[in-house]
Order: sequence, then structure tokens, then C-alpha cells
Amino acid sequence: MSVYGQNHFTWNGTLRDLHGSYTGFCTGRGRPSMTATLSSSSGLEVLLSTLQNVGDVESTLNILSVLDELLSAGTDGRIHYMIKKGGSEALLTALVKYGHTFSPNYTILIPLLHLLAKVGHKDRRIGMKAEEAGAVLLTLNLLKHNGQHARRTAACLWVIQVFCSSVSTANLIGENHGLDVIYRLIPQYTTKHLHAIKAAINAFSALLCTKANVCSAVSKEYISGFLWLYEDWHSKDNQDVAIAIRHALLCCLLKATDSTAGRQAFLSQGGIRLLYQTAQTCLLSKNLECLVEPSVQLMRKCLPRIPLPVTSDQSAYSFLLPGTPAFTDVSETPDESSDESDAEEAEDNHEANNRDYDDDLETDLNKLRLPPDPDRPKELLTQYSCFCPELSHDFQELDLSSETGDSSTASSSSDDEVVLLNKDRTKTTASRDSSTSDGSYSEMEISSRDMPAAAHLEACDFHSHSSILGTSPGFRTMVRGAMGEASPCQREDEQDNEEDGTEEFYHHTIIDRLLERHGAGIPHHDPKLYCAVASKTKSIPDFSILAFPDFWGHLPPPGHQPMAPRKPNIQSLQCHSDSLRFFSKFESGNLRKAVQVRRYEYDLILNPDVNSSQHTQWFYFEVSNMAADVPYRFNVINCEKSNSQFNYGMQPVLYSVKEALEGRPHWISTGTEICYFRNNFCPAQGRRRTTFYTLTFTITFKHSEDVCYLAYHYPYTYSALMAHLKILQKSVDPAKVFFKQQTLCSTLAGNSCPIVTITACPVSRRWKDLHQMRNRPYIVLTSRVHPGESNASWVMKGTLEFLCSNDLVAQSLREAFVFKIIPMLNPDGVINGTNRCDLNSKDLNRQWSKPDPLLSPTIYHTKGFLYYLNIIGRTPVVFCDYHGHSRKKNVFLYGCSIKETLWQSGSAVDTVGLKEDPGYRTIPKTLDRIAPTFSFNSCNFLVEKSRSATARVVVWREMGVLRSYTLENTYNGCNQGIYKGLQTGTQEHQEMGMKFCHSLLSVTKDTRILYSRKLINHIDLDHNMLDHKSHNCFEDDEPPCAEEIEYSGGCPTLKGSDLDSDIDSNMAHVDDDDKEHSAQKHQQDSISQSQQSSIKNHLFPPQTAIR
Ligand SMILES: [Zn+2]
Repeated sequence: MSVYGQNHFTWNGTLRDLHGSYTGFCTGRGRPSMTATLSSSSGLEVLLSTLQNVGDVESTLNILSVLDELLSAGTDGRIHYMIKKGGSEALLTALVKYGHTFSPNYTILIPLLHLLAKVGHKDRRIGMKAEEAGAVLLTLNLLKHNGQHARRTAACLWVIQVFCSSVSTANLIGENHGLDVIYRLIPQYTTKHLHAIKAAINAFSALLCTKANVCSAVSKEYISGFLWLYEDWHSKDNQDVAIAIRHALLCCLLKATDSTAGRQAFLSQGGIRLLYQTAQTCLLSKNLECLVEPSVQLMRKCLPRIPLPVTSDQSAYSFLLPGTPAFTDVSETPDESSDESDAEEAEDNHEANNRDYDDDLETDLNKLRLPPDPDRPKELLTQYSCFCPELSHDFQELDLSSETGDSSTASSSSDDEVVLLNKDRTKTTASRDSSTSDGSYSEMEISSRDMPAAAHLEACDFHSHSSILGTSPGFRTMVRGAMGEASPCQREDEQDNEEDGTEEFYHHTIIDRLLERHGAGIPHHDPKLYCAVASKTKSIPDFSILAFPDFWGHLPPPGHQPMAPRKPNIQSLQCHSDSLRFFSKFESGNLRKAVQVRRYEYDLILNPDVNSSQHTQWFYFEVSNMAADVPYRFNVINCEKSNSQFNYGMQPVLYSVKEALEGRPHWISTGTEICYFRNNFCPAQGRRRTTFYTLTFTITFKHSEDVCYLAYHYPYTYSALMAHLKILQKSVDPAKVFFKQQTLCSTLAGNSCPIVTITACPVSRRWKDLHQMRNRPYIVLTSRVHPGESNASWVMKGTLEFLCSNDLVAQSLREAFVFKIIPMLNPDGVINGTNRCDLNSKDLNRQWSKPDPLLSPTIYHTKGFLYYLNIIGRTPVVFCDYHGHSRKKNVFLYGCSIKETLWQSGSAVDTVGLKEDPGYRTIPKTLDRIAPTFSFNSCNFLVEKSRSATARVVVWREMGVLRSYTLENTYNGCNQGIYKGLQTGTQEHQEMGMKFCHSLLSVTKDTRILYSRKLINHIDLDHNMLDHKSHNCFEDDEPPCAEEIEYSGGCPTLKGSDLDSDIDSNMAHVDDDDKEHSAQKHQQDSISQSQQSSIKNHLFPPQTAIR
């Protein structure tokens, strides 16, 4: 044994040894050819060549037995090695030799076929090789003559199945009546020869890889045959002994329905009904769960596509863009491809599409290192000097302590007190009803499919009424009830006839009394201020109504909310009530249409982004007129993302007005039986080949006659931001904190895009102090470029509140840096409830390379401001753009690194001489230690071509900001750290915003700015608290989505039911009709175990054996 130690190992040496041991069981006839090849080939080749040349049964059996033993013990590596050495050809030659005789010797043929199936299964070219060897029709012929011998039949069928990996081979078999021969081998329910029956179904299924065979199978009505067979086996297999057969039949049907004719045949033969019924019974048994998925796949595949019940695929909102002469049908212009809309999130898909992803990496060194020419002339940049007031402000007020800092406090607060909701509602309602550009109103209705006439509500039920907040009448009635006022119905009617002035007065007092009585009392929130701010917000539909949660405010609920468990979908409950009422005409609202499809079930359709026909995902709407304790089912049927965290424990959020008035003003994660899956809807006009997905969930409301709000994630409106900034400004001590809010620019719809400066005021007006202040490095933070990512705003809220706080770290950060914050890069999108885009239906985070000053003003000016900082020598030390991520857990950063990009791409560029500051890793490394939701393992620092126009890449490349990041925040929760298994709420989002600030301390060291020892201790304290964070980088981010298999169209495989294990069971199996087998088995046994294993070790190179 030691002779063949690794150092001395050679193939010749092995062969010599093999030669010696081989003589023990090989007859004389085999030897000459073996020695002939001794000098130049491997032991395996010798064995294969012998197989083709020896003529006696005993030697052949011995060789087959050795080969089989070798392959069954090893891994696929051995089989691939054998294929490389001509194993497939050798086996095919032997098959033709032994199969072509008048009376074939099945003692040899059966093990030969088994081996061929095993090897051929791994050989992609086996079909072609079999055709060349003339083995295809030979095998089919053997099959035809052995219909009565189960073992022989099975062996032939496996080989045929394997041959069908080639389309031309499958067609050849089909042309020679292979389908009919095999179909006749599939009997009604029986308990005998199950392996042969399964082999027949699988072989039939394999033949259906070609169009011609599918057509032939459909025209011969095999689909109805298979449906009939499935029903028969399903109804009689009471002991569940033939689950694999039933599964195989379903997979066969899946293949057969690959053609339109196949799907039509399936439908007309009652396939849907049959599979629906059988799947129902399968749901009741754990054993049969594996049949549910292929059944559902089949049903969904064959269901005819249904156009969405909307009049147009275009958004209900359209906006006339500047520079556009007249209204153009935006549907004519190609929409941005849907994969681009998902592009940000596709950043995590590189595992799945490694090749594509690597192709996307930027490998052009010039593009990685050299900034392109600026997109505008230098002269245009001086206008941005006004956004650095800290550089010119003289801080005179520091000398006059009595004077309040004029520039750092609100310019005017008189408007804060006025409640301005006095838009002429009668007029707007009327104009809307007749408006054609605003089609949403005519569609804002509840129609009915299953309940004729019963559920039809008039849109005007909602809109003709005005109320204190402009919320629905249900709410008004309820609020009055809560306030003990008499006869709410009467008051309602009266009020509608009241004149605006009186009404306004009435509203004003009722808000006062409501607040007096229930007192919202939420920190950093003031309902009246919110009203005042919201009245100035400009929306396309001209919203005049506030959503209650935005007005009243939200407090995170006490305690954490675990991710939702997933249970099988079962619900039924009878109870009488009216239909739910839906409403979404308020800021950030998104719901286009609700259709009652069952008594307690509604299909909900979302509105595409303005001027576009896609990007539906975000929703936020009001629902009322509910009964308590009834499970209502909601199906959002036109989502666009292919998978969602809703499949992994994420829940929608709910806000109850009744609960709020009882002192619990919380958005709560809620909903049961949540599932996200592909559906069979298609666009109404069918222009795009869009696939829609359904988000389904059940909500059981706690109170009857409540008014509730449901949203994709915690809403955060533009008005909330503006109100919040005002409150923050008032909260800071102007002598200490320099807080200045300015308008960066006006948006397309005429809203102001705020830019906020936060830093510490100088200690005094002395030159030294002013100089220190004016030399602080800059940090630029932006957020909410994607309106659907409301979590980004909550994280930004945490950052802003922290930076304005009296916290020791915050104070030091203000002394160390000047913060420039643009908290909402896409106000118009947020206001109008879009998911991804701005009003021009463009993803603003793809406009950074050459932003259009007219069409993308916020990006154009943010970039201009960054250019300005650049030319005055104040390039920011950190730039970070906050986002939300719907497909991953935890929080993580995307950054930019030349070296990591080149390494990952496998680029030939020599990176040895390339200098790169590793400082881009400091902040993520720090966050990993101190922020509970953050995970360094999810970060990456690769520069992709498809992201070349994103904020992160442009700021890094064009402005030379080393630490330029995208901060991705989960919508769901964490799978590591102290929040593992919990959903991320507003509190955790805000905490993340605060922790991000903490991590900035790590940058102060590099810039040699004052760095107090106390602060390091502060951070370290957190570090110790959180150091028990788990760091398992091998833990998969997500289990594969159960539905994902279906999207690819393949049949899910049944565990432990693959070809190899079937063949193995056939070999061990002794049938009455194959008595020779026992003799052969005896032969095998006669070769001693030790002999075999020693050969095995020497036939394969060590590396393949190890695998
Ligand atoms: Zn985003």
C-alpha cells in the first residue's frame, strides 16, 4: 500500500499493480489488449478498451461489475472522469455488440444498461454519441420486445430517458413511435413493478423536451390519458405507496402543457378542476405535500391570462412635463425595462447569476480611476455658494445673547398656527369627476365579481363629503361618537351644506377638541403643524384630505414584533356585513381600485408611477366599514417584483384610528397567511409582456366601524418631513447648534426640496473659533430618492434627530463636521404615492451622470452643490444615500473599490502597483460592531456598469469621494444580532440613523480633527453590549423562494427519487422473470471486497477520488 504513496504515484505504476491484481479475475483473452495499451494509457482506459474487445460473458460481467462498483462509491467527479476517458462510447459499443444478436444475453445487457444510464445521465452529449453508435433505435427495439419483463423494461427506459437529453435523439425516438410504445407501458393503478412504471412515465416526460413530440402527444390525446391516469392513481393509492408515480405523472403533464394546444387540451379536459380537487386532499396529508406544488404550477400555467380590470395600464395620474408641447401618450415611449427598475435590488443577485454579474463589473481602469469631464461649466457652480451659509455667516448674535439667532431659527412662524385646508372641495370634486386626465376617480370604486350589484358603491360616497380632516364619513361619525356629540348623521348632512368659512371654523374647533380630549402627544410631532404644512404641499390630484396617521402621528409600539410565521392557507367564516370601503386620495396614498371577489375577499389594484405604466409595489390606503373579528382577505394583484420579503416573515402595517384615539397611535405589523406569488394577470392593454405577482394577506380588524390604514411599510410623507424639520429647528439651541433649512430647488410640481445644514456654532466670534468652524470637513447625506422606500426616511429621521440632540457624540460630531442633508430627493414621487420614479417616470437614481436641469432638478442641483464643494476644496469626506431593500434582511452598505471590483471580475489588470486607500471599509466595519441591524457580510464594494449613473458611483468617481455609499435598509427584519427574527420597526430604523452618525466618529481620526477619548469610550461601551452578534458568513441570506422554482418552469424534483437511486434499487431487486440475475449476483460476490476496493483506489487520480 505504501508503495503508492503520494510522492511515488504514477499511472504506470498503478497499472502495473492493476495488472497483477487484475489477472485474478480476468480471463486470458482479455489480457493481450490490456498489455498493448499499458505504456500510454490509464488503468481506466484499459478497462474500457477491454470491455469493448473481450468476447466472453464472465470477463464482461466482471468488468461491468468493477466499473459499477467504482462509480457507485465515488462522486460525480469519477463519472466525469470516465466520460472524459471515453466511457460512454465504450458502453455504447458494448451495448450494440450484445444487443444486436438474435437472442440477446440479458445477463450482460441489464447491468450494461444500468451503467449506461448512470454514466449517460452525466454526459451532456450522450444522445449524439448514442445516435452515432446506432444504439438509439436498438434500445427502443429491446424495449418493444421486453414489455413483459419489468427489470429489462426499466433498464431500457432509463437509457431512453438519458438519450433524450438531446433534442434530435428525442425526435428520432418520437418518429419511431417511441411515445406510443412507452405510453402503453403505463397501466392503471397497481402495486406491482412500480419502478418500471415510473421509468416509463419519466421516459415519456423526457421525450416531451421537443416541440414535435409535445405536438404529437397532444394530438394523440395523451393529455386526457394522463389526467385520467392521475385521477385513477390518486383515488386508489390510499396507502400512499405510489407518490412517486403520481408526482411523475404531474411532471409529465407539466411538460405536455408547454404548448398552447397542450394547455387548451388540459383546460378542456377538466384539468383545473381535477387538480384543484386532488390538491385539496393532498393538503390534508403531510406525505402528499410534494404533490401540491406541481399541481399548483400546472393550474397556474394553464389558467388563461386575465387582463387587469382597469381601463388603462397607464397611471391614473399624468403630469405635463416642462418642454413637452402637449400631452403625449407616454405608453408609446418605451418604459424603462423592468429589470432596470429592479436594478438597485438586483445588486444581491450575483450569486444566482454570477456570470452576468461579473460581466457587469467595471473593468476599464480609466473609468474606475479618472473622473469624466464635468457635466456643466464652472460658472454655473457659483450659485451654490448660498448653500454654505456657515462659511459666510458672521455670528453677530453670539455677542448679543438677548437676540435670537435670526438665520438659524425659523423665518416666520405665523403660518404654523393656521390650519389651511381651505381648498375649495366642492369645486375640486366636481372638476375631478369630469376630469379625463385623472382617470383614477372613475376607477376608484368597488366593483363586484361574485356578488352582483350588492357591493357597488359610488365613488362620490367618499369624495362628495368633506370632513374635519377630509377623511371619510365613517371616521367623522366615529370621531363625533367618541366625542359624545348627538346625532352624527344629522350633523353630517348639515355640514355638507355649510359654507366654507363656517366649515373651516367647525373643523378648526373639532381638531382642537379632539386633541384636547385625546391628546396625541407624540414627540417631534404636532398635528396642527402637520395640517398647516400639508396644506402647502402640491400634489397632482390636488389632495385635500389627510390620512389620519400622518395627521395624528405614530409611536412605535411597545416591544418588538417577531417576523410572521407562515401557515397553510385555510380560512372560512360566515358573517354578515356590508362591503369594505376603500380610499386613497391623500398624500403618499396608492390604491387604484378595489374589487370585491368574495364576501370577505378583495382584489386590490395599485396605481403605476405617474406618467408610467409600471413600478407598482407601494401601497397606502384607508379602509372602513369593517366588522370586527372577521378575517378579510386582501390580494394586491399587480405587484411587479419577482420575489418579496413578504415570503420571509414581513407583514404589511396597519393603523387603527380607534386604537389611536384610545392612546395607542401605532403602526403595527399585521396580517396572517401572507404569501407573495406569481399570478395569471396580464396588462389590460397587453402591450407589455409583464408578469404580475400577488401579495395576499388576511386582516382581522379589532373594532367594528373603525377606520384603518394599511401600507406596504411605515408611511412617511413629504408633509411629515417638512413639519418635522420645523420642529427640529425649534428644538435646537441656536446659540449652540447651527441649523439652517434652505430650499435647494423647486420640484417639477412646485414643491420645495429642502437642504439642511447642521453644525456646531463657533464658541465665540474670535477668529480662531470661526476659523475652526469654517474648516470642518463636510458630510453629505441624502435619502428617499425612491418614494416606495419609506424606511429610508425613518432612518433619516433618526439621523436628523440625533444630530440635533444634546447627546455627547452628537455634540462632538457637530464640532467635527458640517452636515449637509437633503432628506428627500424625490418629494413629488413621495407625495403622489409613486414607488420608484419621479413625475417624468424616470428612476432618479439613474440620472446622476447627466441630470437634466428641467426634468430632474433635485439631482441636478444636488450634483451641482457637490461640484461646488469640490471646486472650493471642500469635497465631502463621506457621502451616503439612504435606501430601502425589499429582498434582503438586515442593513448594509454598497461602496466603491477599484481593487475589489477588479479582483471580483477576474480582470487581468495588475492591481499590485495600484494604490487604494482602504478607508472605505472603516464605516461599514464600525457599523458592524455598533449597529444591531447592520451586517458587514451583506456589504459589497463593487462598481457595476449598470450602476454607473447612481449617486454612489457618480459621487465617488466624479467628486472623488472615497467613502461614497448606498445605505440599504431592510423592510423586513434581521437574521443576525440582537434583533434576529424580529421585524424592523420605526424605532429600529431611527436607531440605525443614529448609529450611522456614531460610525462617523471613526472618520474623524483620519481627518486629524479633535478626537476626544471620551467618545471612543462611548463607542466601545456600545461595542461591548453588542459584541455577541453572530457572524456566520456562510448562512444563506434567504432560503430559496418556494415559488421561484415555478417561475423557471421546471418540475420540482422529488427527494430521494432520482435516476441513480432508481437504478440502484432495480439492481438490488430480484424479479421472478429475471432468474439470471441471481447467478450474476453470485458472480459479483465471488470477487472479494478487498480486491475491488484496492482497484478502485488506483483507477482514479487521487483528486477525483477525494471529491
Ligand atoms: Zn432605492
